[in-house]
Amino acid sequence: MHVMVLGAGITGVTTAWYLRQAGYDVSIVDRQDAAAQETSFANGGQISVSHPEPWANPATPFLVLRWLGREDSPLRFRPRASIRQWRWAMSFLHECLPWRARRNTAAIAALALHSQRQLQLVRREAGIETQYDARQQGILHLFFSNADFAHAQTRASILNELGVAARTCTREECIAIEPALAARAHHLAGGLYAPNDESGDAMQFTQALAAVLRQKGVTFHLGTTIKRLCSSNGLIEGVEVSDREGRTGTLTANAYVLCLGSYSPLLVRPLGERLPIYPVKGYSITAPVADPTHAPEVSLTDESRRIVCSRLGERLRIAGTAELNGYNPAIDPARGRPLFDWVEQCLPGAIDPGQATLWAGLRPATPSNLPIIGKSRLLNLWYNTGHGTLGWTLACGSAQVLSALMGSHQQPVPAFPVLAPR
Ligand SMILES: Cc1cc2nc3c(=O)[nH]c(=O)nc-3n(C[C@H](O)[C@H](O)[C@H](O)COP(=O)(O)OP(=O)(O)OC[C@H]3O[C@@H](n4cnc5c(N)ncnc54)[C@H](O)[C@@H]3O)c2cc1C
Repeated sequence: MHVMVLGAGITGVTTAWYLRQAGYDVSIVDRQDAAAQETSFANGGQISVSHPEPWANPATPFLVLRWLGREDSPLRFRPRASIRQWRWAMSFLHECLPWRARRNTAAIAALALHSQRQLQLVRREAGIETQYDARQQGILHLFFSNADFAHAQTRASILNELGVAARTCTREECIAIEPALAARAHHLAGGLYAPNDESGDAMQFTQALAAVLRQKGVTFHLGTTIKRLCSSNGLIEGVEVSDREGRTGTLTANAYVLCLGSYSPLLVRPLGERLPIYPVKGYSITAPVADPTHAPEVSLTDESRRIVCSRLGERLRIAGTAELNGYNPAIDPARGRPLFDWVEQCLPGAIDPGQATLWAGLRPATPSNLPIIGKSRLLNLWYNTGHGTLGWTLACGSAQVLSALMGSHQQPVPAFPVLAPR
């Protein structure tokens, strides 16, 4: 049986891995000339099992109001004359209800724990442990105000109940875990340390895994844009594509898995399928480490400013900000400014800002931050998409679950909601 994976980001390539391991003939289609060139290109690098709380939680509506109109705010809503944007925003508000947020947090934690175990298996089986600047030194969440830190103990208890190792730390303990914080530690109220979390370069991981998949006989159709999914009698019959020269054609398989990130809803809409995914833009900067004594080795999350920082070999990656502004991948230097300010304030001298590369990507966000994994209403079309803020964290587990569902048509273990429309 031939399965065609649509999209070669972190989600598509890990999906192809599990399907190939399960014995399918696999091909993969992407408009870019290499894997992981869009949202999976330069994300925050965190395997953040300790951050299952979705953006949609009871505090967020008030924060959005507080940040309204601020160009450097962590979350920015740019209203558009778009029914899709407003529908998504209303669903997001619904997911902010306390019981919805609790349910979503538990489901994401279960998938994240499963995914981390799967990541460990994949990298060993594929032999790519050393190919993506991986670190297994945990994630240290930082709180820069007493008000924020006041909730850290409750949060640690909730994480522990969900099976995630995490403990609160004093300022001194934070510095012992990550000495690079010493320079500006007087601003720090405290931390929460998740020792089992990891970090690594998602783009390098995806490309290393893609190289192994090629050796295993997976066909890559790169530089190939998907124009349309052709359906008849409840089945996908083929994928209409065009190449860089504008030549068109149709690719066929027995089954198809949609992993097109933020663009997933656009391709299935003409088939009557509505996926609640909206692009939420985020930024990162990546720069060579200038002074190793000021560059952290432990991955950091600034909980007060919603910024993450990961050491990737001899580089530092700082990422954050969220903006609802449609399919607009353009880089706005003003939105990147808070990342430069952050590194200057918290890790002075760690990088030379003149050497930094600013990047923006569109997170494929669902209102709940739960991905959409499972079968569509069409008999041979499957979904593994909508991973929002946690696509790197959830990739291997989601792909394993999708492959298990395709093989057995049963709910996989561990149990968490599989959100396919039917
Ligand atoms: C600033 C930022 C920081 C982040 N930090 C983290 C983090 O620290 N940890 C974490 O877990 N997650 C993080 N994320 C989220 C994570 O990066 C995403 O969830 C993940 O990359 C999504 O992967 P994907 O494969 O679904 O989408 P993509 O990587 O976008 O892949 C989709 C693929 O589909 C292809 N495609 C789309 N349309 C077509 C078409 N018509 N024809 C052919 N090909 C097409 C694209 O070329 C692309 O390769 C972050 C995201 C951002 C933006």
